[in-house]
Amino acid sequence: MKNNTIIVIGGGLAGLAAGCYALLNGYDCTVVEQHHEAGGLAATWTRGDYIIDGGLLHLTGTQPGLAAYDLYRQLGILPRLRLIEPPVLLRVFDESLDRSLDVGRNLDRLAFELKTLSPSDEELINDIAFGSKHIGLIDVQTAEMPFELMGARQKLRRSWSMRSTLRFFTGFYAQPVADILGKLEDQFVRNVLLGLTFPQAPLWHLMLNLSLFSRGQMALLPEGSISLVRLLEERYLSLGGILQTGTRVAGVKTLPLAGGEYEARGVELESGEALEADYLIGALDTHVMTHDLLGGDFLDQPTLARFRDWQLHQPLVMVSLGINRLFSELPPHNLLLLRRPFFVGDKTVDRLHLRLFNYCPSFAPAGKTVVQAWFESDWAYWSTLAQTDRSAYEAEKERMAREVIRRLEYHFPGVVRKVEMTDVATPYTTWRATGNFQGSYRGWLPTPRVAVATVPRTLPGLQHFVTAGHWTVPGGGAPATLLSGRHAVQLVCRRDGRPFTSGAS
Ligand SMILES: Cc1cc2nc3c(=O)[nH]c(=O)nc-3n(C[C@H](O)[C@H](O)[C@H](O)COP(=O)(O)OP(=O)(O)OC[C@H]3O[C@@H](n4cnc5c(N)ncnc54)[C@H](O)[C@@H]3O)c2cc1C
Repeated sequence: MKNNTIIVIGGGLAGLAAGCYALLNGYDCTVVEQHHEAGGLAATWTRGDYIIDGGLLHLTGTQPGLAAYDLYRQLGILPRLRLIEPPVLLRVFDESLDRSLDVGRNLDRLAFELKTLSPSDEELINDIAFGSKHIGLIDVQTAEMPFELMGARQKLRRSWSMRSTLRFFTGFYAQPVADILGKLEDQFVRNVLLGLTFPQAPLWHLMLNLSLFSRGQMALLPEGSISLVRLLEERYLSLGGILQTGTRVAGVKTLPLAGGEYEARGVELESGEALEADYLIGALDTHVMTHDLLGGDFLDQPTLARFRDWQLHQPLVMVSLGINRLFSELPPHNLLLLRRPFFVGDKTVDRLHLRLFNYCPSFAPAGKTVVQAWFESDWAYWSTLAQTDRSAYEAEKERMAREVIRRLEYHFPGVVRKVEMTDVATPYTTWRATGNFQGSYRGWLPTPRVAVATVPRTLPGLQHFVTAGHWTVPGGGAPATLLSGRHAVQLVCRRDGRPFTSGAS
């Protein structure tokens, strides 16, 4: 066997990116994906005449100024990927107050409108607006090299490059969004700002979102998540990579080394076949990888502590509807604060995110639109239902669709008769399709502590095995996930004594 093969387990964004960098660095590479096509969570599927996008809404770092931009160019995503820069990031509509507000690019205007709505909250709104304007463009979780390879000089250079903005990552700005926004007197203003991030995230996370959007660094994909996946896949295949889809890895082959350590030597497939390699990159769910594929043999205390102490991005229920009408008057992303909440298990659903695919003409026949509503839901509720009472599970999915259509009817009278297609994905669907732990769609939740934490890319006692994917970069998201693929190959190259190249000329 030649001494230069890498097998990547998982053909999501991280796995495909890792595959590209492996090939650019002279390795032979096979990406093994359980699903019949690559993409993982960045998934798109067809229902009749409609296309449903179950993946990312915004791609960040689409302009020069962020490391993500260079990464997209190295991976062949830019300049070919079609992008749209929306004028509105989010429209929040409060049904009880009959009040709405658009979050646009101009942060002064946003601050002005919020202060007009709630003069008594002026001081706090000013603080948030100031932070959002001055935090600048920061590459969170997208350092040029994995922290394992950073020497004192690189760490110093990184801190130095962030010196003018470091103050926004401590103190007031590092407190959880919910705690800070809880001080606002006006509930609508609070809900507008809450709609821009996760309540458990640090305040700087919200500010960074506003900063990125106001600087044109957040774009929509008018051809859907699939367009991103296709370009990555094309790049990988054109570099000579092998993509083996419909192939589930059931285990990792290891060989004992002297001193009690092990070396990964290949994978065992569910079919019973075995594939050998010099290095493995695990670009899949961290729980499946450590518990199922490695049988729990390489779990250390820090890994167990992460599973015990860190929170997950809560999984989503996603109701997609094919509707026989246009919604050109609405921005692509809306948040409805519901007048009449509904209940799912023990949880109250009092807000719905509404994604209008009016910017994706190919997703629906002429004159029609895909509308998608999503909300966070409970993993245990859906998984128990799916595994113990299939017909109750299906009935509950149908109820979700009815609840959403009823809320839409309030805004668009008559819409109920125009719904031609219904598709409901639950946390259980996400888990079944991608294996992500408890159906999480972005890995670890970026709480103030976790958002700046690092996850080691190697496992204790296991040589020639490196990890990638959103579970290695708290907060997840496409840029950090793609970069984790590059980091994995950088670690392999270092272990192999090869200089790493990103392929950029
Ligand atoms: C609804 C939604 C909205 C989002 N919005 C955004 C957004 O606006 N911006 C943003 O940047 N990000 C967003 N994200 C997050 C982003 O899409 C993910 O963080 C990213 O796609 C994760 O990629 P990954 O490769 O790490 O993991 P995955 O996509 O989970 O890929 C892992 C792959 O491994 C495969 N696999 C698992 N087990 C095995 C096995 N045993 N054998 C073989 N293959 C296996 C899976 O099938 C999967 O294809 C969103 C995600 C969702 C779902």
